[in-house]
Amino acid sequence: MSHEKPTGEVVIAKGREAPLKRFHPWVYAGAVAEVRGSPEPGDIVDVVDSKGNFLGRGYYNPNSQIRVRILTFIVERVNEDFWAERLRRAAGARRPLEGKTTAFRLVNSESDGIPGLIVDRYGDFLSFQALTLGIERRKRLLVELMAGIFSPAGIYERSDVGVRALEGLEPEKGHIFGDEPPPKLEIEEHGARFYVDIRGGHKTGFYLDQRENRALLQEIAAGKEVLDVFSYTGGFGVHAGLGGAKSVLFIEDSAKHLRWARDHLKLNGLEEIRAGFVAGNAFQELRRLYRERRQFDIVVLDPPKFARNAAEVEDALRGYKDINILGMRLLRKGGYLLTFSCSGHVTEELFLRAVTWAAMDVRREAVILKRLHQAQDHPVGLTFPEGAYLKGFLIQVF
Ligand code: SAH
Repeated sequence: MSHEKPTGEVVIAKGREAPLKRFHPWVYAGAVAEVRGSPEPGDIVDVVDSKGNFLGRGYYNPNSQIRVRILTFIVERVNEDFWAERLRRAAGARRPLEGKTTAFRLVNSESDGIPGLIVDRYGDFLSFQALTLGIERRKRLLVELMAGIFSPAGIYERSDVGVRALEGLEPEKGHIFGDEPPPKLEIEEHGARFYVDIRGGHKTGFYLDQRENRALLQEIAAGKEVLDVFSYTGGFGVHAGLGGAKSVLFIEDSAKHLRWARDHLKLNGLEEIRAGFVAGNAFQELRRLYRERRQFDIVVLDPPKFARNAAEVEDALRGYKDINILGMRLLRKGGYLLTFSCSGHVTEELFLRAVTWAAMDVRREAVILKRLHQAQDHPVGLTFPEGAYLKGFLIQVF
């Protein structure tokens, strides 16, 4: 495994080479004319055009719609050194974050040159996801390399995600190396402290991608009444509190995670702040607040993914429009809306359209003050636009 030579050649159908020539790292089943040799699932293969010219080298999965994920566009060995170099490169890119946070994404899949591998650091621990068969097969090697290069106290696997089914894989999770992570691990981001449950939290434990946007809220929150919708463990609301907010109301349908939001206020010395916690469906609760004529100075809308694929985009846009209507109605004149979409299939332009429809529907004038994206430890490969999934806007609503 450590001196892997390609065991096959995947020939691209004539006229289907363009994405690969633009260095896009996915080879779809429909673009494959022929498979030469007899590569096993997960093996390294060369991808060539119909004349036999080399296009790229990657790992193969005959059971996925993405037949090959390209690891390199040059002829080079995909051996242990290759993986180690990619991991080191990813770690180096996170150095500017030191001092700002003790938790960050170390490896962001395609955009860090390791398709299918997500690694997040939480203090001394690593939490990772193997999303593809190619990574699953090399898990042992990658864990060994991560242990050596990143020197964590322990490594925990959170491959308990549905997308693995698209690769023919079952969900998996468990403690894999070193010490077991504590049930409540403490991290710090821009001066705010949070507990993370690596074993049972959402994603790999925390929504690291929103770090910079939470810090932005802190800057504008002084003296404001803030509504943190889809709050999870209260990340936005805590930052609002640290920024001097007058009050924070959290809405989240997971009662367990909402309890953590309360703990997080305490952990940050904010037990005196006027805070409310509503466990329930955001759509219903926002309607209720409207009926009760409640008003806020800042509303944060950070919903879960509404579209999992292209077919769901239209419904998702209706969802985004609805939730933004409900959020805008609760804003005082001149108030701020921080609104997000983490659906990769909904582009920034489409999302903005949905938000615009919402403003028209409630007959409010609104301006974009800032366009928001995922934090810089979630880089986006220039030839992999799919990597840019989180988009949002800071909007002032009159
Ligand atoms: N803002 C959070 C992350 C939010 S993720 C942070 O910064 O950490 C989206 C959250 O919405 C999840 O915690 C999920 O449990 C919750 N959620 C999903 N559907 C919901 C609904 N209909 N009503 C309320 N909360 C919901």
